[in-house]
Formats: sequence, structure tokens, C-alpha cells
Amino acid sequence: MSRERLYLFDTTLRDGAQTNGVDFTLADKLAIARMLDELGIDYVEGGYPGANPIDTEFFSERRPMRGKLTAFGMTRRPGRSASNDPGLVALLDAKADAICFVAKSWDYHVRVALETTEAENLASIRDSVRAAKAEGREVLLDCEHFFDGYKAKPAFALACAKAAYDEGARWVVLCDTNGGTLPHEVERIVGEVCAKIPGDHVGIHAHNDTEQAVANSFAAVRAGARQIQGTLNGLGERCGNANLVSIIPTLKLKSEYADKFEIGVSDEALGRLARVSHALDELLNRAADRHAPYVGESAFATKAGIHASAIVKAPATYEHIAPERVGNKRKLLVSDQAGRSNVLAELERIGLAVDKDDPRVARLLDEVKEREAIGYAYETADASFELLARRLLGKLPHYFAVEKFDVNVEQRINAKGVSVTVSQAVVKLKVGDDELISVAEGIGPVNALDLALRKDLGKYQSFITGLELTDYRVRILNGGTGAVTRVLIESSDETGDRWTTVGVSANIIDASFQALMDSIIYKLVKSGAPA
Ligand SMILES: [Zn+2]
Repeated sequence: MSRERLYLFDTTLRDGAQTNGVDFTLADKLAIARMLDELGIDYVEGGYPGANPIDTEFFSERRPMRGKLTAFGMTRRPGRSASNDPGLVALLDAKADAICFVAKSWDYHVRVALETTEAENLASIRDSVRAAKAEGREVLLDCEHFFDGYKAKPAFALACAKAAYDEGARWVVLCDTNGGTLPHEVERIVGEVCAKIPGDHVGIHAHNDTEQAVANSFAAVRAGARQIQGTLNGLGERCGNANLVSIIPTLKLKSEYADKFEIGVSDEALGRLARVSHALDELLNRAADRHAPYVGESAFATKAGIHASAIVKAPATYEHIAPERVGNKRKLLVSDQAGRSNVLAELERIGLAVDKDDPRVARLLDEVKEREAIGYAYETADASFELLARRLLGKLPHYFAVEKFDVNVEQRINAKGVSVTVSQAVVKLKVGDDELISVAEGIGPVNALDLALRKDLGKYQSFITGLELTDYRVRILNGGTGAVTRVLIESSDETGDRWTTVGVSANIIDASFQALMDSIIYKLVKSGAPA
């Protein structure tokens, strides 16, 4: 049976750019557009030319890609002709394959916000679609507030969509702009629209204000829509847009959709999905959501011992899909609740398989339990667990030793008379027979220590060049004898891999030092640095 084509439209660079705290540079936009194109997205909305200088520049030259680069803008203003509206002229000048217009489709907005008549709103839609078609562009119309508009006055909302379709727009997109519509309403309304406009010309644009943007997108597809709009990681203003990172694997891996539809994302590209999701977080300088469906670090993590033994025998018992399909991996959490089977399975996963009756397994489990009792958290710090296991099994080379370190924080008045705080770290290392001393200044003491540690590792320096710290978390734990500090550091490298290390001490610098050291040593092991 041949499958129907379903199209994906990404608006990370336009709607996603509305997110609080997100500010894309031109270079960011180009990098994200490339990433989306490599993923196999059909339409990449690049922004709103004429609205801000970066978006105007983005569209100032042709940017060849596989998918269709789309420019966003408003239909002509009421009371003007298409050729006499500077906004529309700028949009038509944009070097884009497709143009996505946004227009009102709620009579209330037409009256109150636009202060015009319904007839003029419809004429504006027709004129704008016609003008863009005349310039040889593919045209889409985003019907703003469509669902609220349809509930208030169905005939008018439908007339707006119909006006664009009749004028030759490739797609009319039904937008849940306020994000408050529920899945059963979306399914009913989209069904009614698809009775008037063929579903293979209808799209859905859902916002996540009731945390159902993904569900609303699928409800629309079930009712006949054949284009889904969304963003990477659900980026978007307020509560975000429909998350394409969740939608794509569901379309590809769940038979209700996979048997029926074909999308532009290949199996091979799907296998890079987790990396794409994390790459966006890195670009935004935020920590990845570890509980994100499909791609989060915890999405395939299992803790309890009985589950772990079953999962090793038959992964499907506790996993809804194979994690590798989306570029994620299974993780068996090793913690004080862990049984032997977790430890054995985790050792096997990291390539340190031992016999199940090996006495060192019991020793490792005891050590994990003892250390967790004083604050270590190995279920999160998978890399620190691996180092602990390697040390116990005699599989950890001795790379270098830190003979001493010294960190100081100084507050002083600078030349401009402003009070500044400066941190400096000095680290003395022994690598083989070489003694190395590194000094570095940082934004804080931990940053200074990190920079000094990684500044000169002698013969090992080339093995850690791709190492980056991506997250740093501190927690104060209250024990019987006083507070201790737990530091968790997340790192990544040039291959896109991520790992977490842990340190515990009464002193925050010391705890950070342990976690930093583990991260560096883990990277050396991972890079195959010789002993
Ligand atoms: Zn939107």
C-alpha cells in the first residue's frame, strides 16, 4: 500500500525566536536552518524579512537547500493595494522559495485589532496570495486564531481559508494562536474544514498552552490535515509550539502513522534526532531537558533491579521503542537501590563485562552504596560510575596527577573605580616525568580551576581539545554532622556525546575539582589516550 505524504514545516527561526530569552544571531539562524534541512524538514521558515535587520539579511541572498526556505509576513494592509504596501513589497523581495502570510480569521480581531471590514480582510488575503503567486512563489496562509474564530463565526473563518485556497495558495494553515483549543475540538473543526478544502492543502499550527500542542497536531492529522507546523524542542513564546522532536519519531515509529504516512525525515536522519535536539540547546546555552520524550537522557533510563534484569533479557519489556532509532541510548541506573543485575548490565554496556560471580561485582556494589550514603549520585553521574568500576577492575590508566592547586578570589577596585571580583587558579600537574604549572583567570573560582586544569595536559592535551562543560549543578545536602556539597558536571565533546560526573565534599571547590577531574579522565579514556 502506498503511503500518503505528510509535510513538516519548522518555525523555530520565526515563532521559536519569540521565546523569552532567545536571541538568534545570523550565524545561529544559518546553522539551525542547515540542521533542519539535513534532518529532512520540508519547509524551513527563516523569519520575518523587513521586521528586523537579521531576518532581512537572512533573506538578502539565496540560500540553497533541499527543503523550501520560507519567508513570513503579513497580508497587505487594509485600504492599500498590494504594490503600495512596503511590508508586502519587502516580503516579495525576500530570496525565499515560499511565502507564508499571516491573516486574521476571527471576526472579532478584524473588527477590534484591524479596525476593518470582513470583506476588506478577505480582499487583502486574495490580493496578497495573488501577488506572491505572480512572483512565482509557493504560498501558504497562516489563519491566525482560526479555532477561536471558527467557534465564534464559522462561516467567516472558513471564508478566510477558502479565499486563500481558491486564489491558489498551496496550504492554508489553521493556527491555534492562543493555544487553548483541546484535541477533540481540533479534530472536529479540522474535519469540518477538510470537508470544504482538501486535507492535502490543510496544515496545523498548534501552541502548547494546555500542554497538548503535540496531541492537537496529531488530532488534526487524524481529521485530514497533511502539514504539521512546529519547532525544535517545542521552542516558542509562552508555553511553546508543537514539538517536532516528539512529533517526528511518533510519525516514523508508531504504526498508526508510520503505516499510513511518509515524511521527509529518513531513518538515518531519525537516528541523529537526539543530537539535533541537544545541538539546539547548546546553541542556546541551556541544559538539555533530561526528561524530554524520545531524546532526553532519562527517556530510556531504568532504575529498579527487577526491571533491569528483565530489560537485559528483553529490552522491549520496558521500552516503547528501541532508543537507538532516535539516537538515544538505554541507561541502567546504578544506585544504592541497584541490584547486581544493574551493575552487571551497565558493565557490559560500557564494555567491561565480567563474570556474574566475580567477587569484584559485590565490591563495586558495596562501594557504590557507601559512596551514595555520603552524597555521591551515580545514577546521574554515569561517567563517574564508569571510572569507579574501571579503577576497581584495574582498567584505568594512570594519566596524570595533580600535585597541588590553589584558587583565590579577590575583590578590588579597578582603574575605572568599579568594584570587581576576579578569580585565579594555579594548578601543578605531573604528567609522566614532566611537571607542569598552569595559571588561569576565570569568571568564578570553579571556572578558573577548570581553565587551569585543562590549559596544559602535556602529551594528553590533544585528547581533550573537544571537551566542553555544558552544565554545572550544585546541591547542598544536609547530613548528620553538617552540610556537604554535591557538584554534578555535564560535559560533551566533538562527537556529540554527553556525560555527567560527580564530586562531593564539605568544600564546594573540592567537590567541583573531583567532578572536573573525572570529566577530564573520562574524556581521556573515551579518546583512547595511551597510558
Ligand atoms: Zn504561532
